[in-house]
Amino acid sequence: IVRLEKVNKHFGSLHVLKDIDLEVTPGEVVVIIGASGSGKSTLIRCINGLEEFQQGHLEVDGSPLLPYGKATKALQRIRTEVGMVFQQFNLFPHLSVLDNVTLAPMKVRGWSRSDATEIAERLLERVGISDQAAKYPTQLSGGQQQRVALARALAMEPRLMLFDEPTSALDPEMIGEVLDAMRELAKEGMTMMIVTHEMGFAREVADRVIYIHKGEIAEEGPPETIFDSPKEAPTRNFLARVL
Ligand code: ATP
Ligand code: MG
Repeated sequence: IVRLEKVNKHFGSLHVLKDIDLEVTPGEVVVIIGASGSGKSTLIRCINGLEEFQQGHLEVDGSPLLPYGKATKALQRIRTEVGMVFQQFNLFPHLSVLDNVTLAPMKVRGWSRSDATEIAERLLERVGISDQAAKYPTQLSGGQQQRVALARALAMEPRLMLFDEPTSALDPEMIGEVLDAMRELAKEGMTMMIVTHEMGFAREVADRVIYIHKGEIAEEGPPETIFDSPKEAPTRNFLARVL
């Protein structure tokens, strides 16, 4: 569902992604790990067209994204089909929880308010916050806000979900509830790409772990291999620091 071939990205003179080759199959859960500044967020942001790349081929669900962020129908389609959850929840502060979740399906997909509400209620229930629907984001805990963000992304019925450190802005006691919701989603067969520093969670949900080092995929494989017997020195050094 995602295919990158020799994707390169520069920020001015900084070469941030180097010849990235990557294929993600439907239903696969790919966890991306790596040191700060290695290019994890940039990679994720390129995949939904939030960031442009300069060379290579990148396609999502059969739609090619062009280098230099050229606006195309494909880009529009990818933005509709790909859900994203960020470190900062980015909820609309002036909208209730329910309205946060129903907005995009009504605007972009053209659903009626009653259809969108029905689905939103089901999603809020699924992430365990159906009792918060009438509140505003500031009235919720961080963990609750992040679960609203998840429900909001899922309301668009995405074909792929991207996560960039979804728990790193949360207090420790709230991390578990967000990871639980993500775990459920993985079990239901959602295709997911997840940047995270939660190594226990990564080991548990990942079908494949990718270690990024200075803009390159330095090593990838099943979680047991990467965590228990990494082959490359940079991977070993990184894991020694974080595990
Ligand atoms: P972290 O774990 O800290 O989130 P990361 O792996 O997500 O790090 P990126 O945010 O992808 O790293 O950044 C990769 C490199 O690109 C870094 O050197 C960063 O300083 C640089 N960079 C990121 N965004 C921009 C930008 N908008 N303009 C210029 N340089 C940028
Ligand atoms: Mg990042």
